[in-house]
Amino acid sequence: MGGGKQANQFVTTSNAAVLNGEGSFALVEVEKDAVPINCAPIVSSYNEKIRPLLDAVDKLRNLMIMDEGIQLPTIVVVGDQSSGKSSVLESLAGISLPRGQGICTRVPLIMRLQHHSSPQPELSLEYNGRTDRTDEDNVTDDIVKATNSIAGGGKGISNAPLTLLVKKNGVPDLTMVDLPGITRVPIHGQPENIYDQIKDMIMEYIKPEESIILNVLSASVDFATCESIRMSQSVDKTGARTLAVVTKVDKAPEGLLEKVTGDDVNIGLGYVCVRNRIGDETYEEARAIAHELFQSHPLLSKIDKSIVGIPVLAQKLVQIQANSIARNLPEIVKKINDKLNYCLSELNKMPKNLSSVAEAMTAFMQIIGLAKESLRKILLRGEFEEYSEDRHMHCTARLVEMLNQYSDALHSCVQSDPKNNFLIEEIKALEEVKGIALPNFLPRNAFLTILQGKVNGISSIPIGFVEQFWTYIEEVVISVLMRHSDNYYQLQLCARRAGHNLMAKMKERSIKWMTEIVDMEKLTDYTCDPEYVAEWNRLMAHQKTFIDGVLDNEKRPSTITIEGIGEVEVEVLRQYPLMLPQAFDLKMRMAAYWKVVMRRFVDLMALHLQLSISNLVNKEMEAEIVNELMGPYGGGIERMLEESPAVAVKRANLNKSIRKLRDSKEVVAKIIDSIVTYGH
Ligand code: GDP
Ligand code: MG
Repeated sequence: MGGGKQANQFVTTSNAAVLNGEGSFALVEVEKDAVPINCAPIVSSYNEKIRPLLDAVDKLRNLMIMDEGIQLPTIVVVGDQSSGKSSVLESLAGISLPRGQGICTRVPLIMRLQHHSSPQPELSLEYNGRTDRTDEDNVTDDIVKATNSIAGGGKGISNAPLTLLVKKNGVPDLTMVDLPGITRVPIHGQPENIYDQIKDMIMEYIKPEESIILNVLSASVDFATCESIRMSQSVDKTGARTLAVVTKVDKAPEGLLEKVTGDDVNIGLGYVCVRNRIGDETYEEARAIAHELFQSHPLLSKIDKSIVGIPVLAQKLVQIQANSIARNLPEIVKKINDKLNYCLSELNKMPKNLSSVAEAMTAFMQIIGLAKESLRKILLRGEFEEYSEDRHMHCTARLVEMLNQYSDALHSCVQSDPKNNFLIEEIKALEEVKGIALPNFLPRNAFLTILQGKVNGISSIPIGFVEQFWTYIEEVVISVLMRHSDNYYQLQLCARRAGHNLMAKMKERSIKWMTEIVDMEKLTDYTCDPEYVAEWNRLMAHQKTFIDGVLDNEKRPSTITIEGIGEVEVEVLRQYPLMLPQAFDLKMRMAAYWKVVMRRFVDLMALHLQLSISNLVNKEMEAEIVNELMGPYGGGIERMLEESPAVAVKRANLNKSIRKLRDSKEVVAKIIDSIVTYGH
């Protein structure tokens, strides 16, 4: 911009963004005939090359492309309450806006100014999806009405924007967003957190790098303490995208020159000082008064003419806006394409929306087939590639671990310790079964009594293990079923129910079976395992030495160590010299036989569980799920056609985004075409 008087009197140049030969945007200077300012539109060199770009950006804004995370270059008007934001916009548009004390702007007001050649202005308001015509006389009232319908009649604010389109001869082509002013203290009828609400709204608009911050400051305040300055500094430290407008210069001309030349607050795009229309002045009157003020006021006339007046502000804004659009548009085009591709691929990844019973049946069979195969791998074959990271799902390995723990539990319990109460139990049992019979026959009853006691003592271990085992399998099976039926909500519900039912059944069956084994072990003492006799013989070889040791009246040892049993207490045994041989025999038979019993408990458990898992995976699971699906709560295969609420919402959102992005793509494609035609 040229400096000095000339620039104030005549607006001569403006920048326009055009597409250069390589397909990227560049700025060119466009010379227009100079027109005396008093009869000229605010920006005389309305530029035909910026217009389609700005139109495109406005169209993208209307399509709500910002919702897709794509930011548009936007001039955002911020300022403390009553700093004169609405007045500045009024001055730029040459129309009346609601202004004054208190909070007038309660929703984001997107103001689109468009020059048009007809002398007749055309105004319209868009909000909540409707468009209402209005005119200069009614626009203030209509904005108030629209604001009330968006944000309610009270003093509250809302995020839903209101768009005011002003087509008027001579206005600069600008789109700006006016935001509620920052207010510290809620007034009567305002929510307590009004400050935070407004601050959040402002931050949302000024945060994106693409936003240009038009900071409106009253000349009468200390800029450094201005809330709006602090906010814009927090997102734009160097001020590279901040422009300051100083209002009310007529009220506080003292020291203004120093304030704007000193720039203590980092305003990268510079200051413009203005005097807005006051009261009932017409725009022409106001412009003349402002012009006069900057010409002849003793203090204000000292300020360089390149930074005073509404025309200068308009000029700067048009330029900054054109720069910003030109800079950002290629990236926006790219972002639209990227986001569109992303949404399309997300949509592709989603499960097909089932539309017939045949489709549902196919999907069902596929899911069951895949789930069965996964379960076979992890439960039976030990192939873990589907869950390489998840050790919990490496079932064959975890099962062996569990079985080992089970075996340890059996072997370390007190019933399995032959040293415990050595021979005392045997002596008592022998005493209780004595009868009229020859001595020296080992009574089988005594053996069975002891055996039953011991088996009873350990019976909770296998039952507890079975429960633990099926709880683990239940987790695994349900997790696999859920993974494969991920996208079919109804099927998931069924599969989960079926899983629970099935596991309860399996658990019950195993417990029944285990109880039977316990009963079998209590009823009969039998084995064909030759190891039993061999072990008994080995142990019996120590019988004589042991008894001699116990009855040795000289040494009277308190403990004796027997090979294969360990060190045992013998003090009390001296009271039963006659029963010792039989008790020892009984003990050693039991010790040898108990090993057989323990082995049977572990072996049978392993075989039983293996068979149960195999049945579960190969037969029962599928039947149970089908039953569940066809049963009273399943609703049949047709129910599978219903998507989960989450999936349905996701699909709808993706489709909506895709529609929006396709429309946006069309918008930018059109302007790139039109720029190519204009530019050459
Ligand atoms: P907003 O709350 O920031 O939108 O502020 P308004 O635009 O509503 O202005 C607040 C008050 O300051 C109104 O009464 C305006 O008339 C007044 N005002 C705005 N600009 C100027 C100006 O340049 N000079 C004078 N004297 N008053 C102004
Ligand atoms: Mg306002």
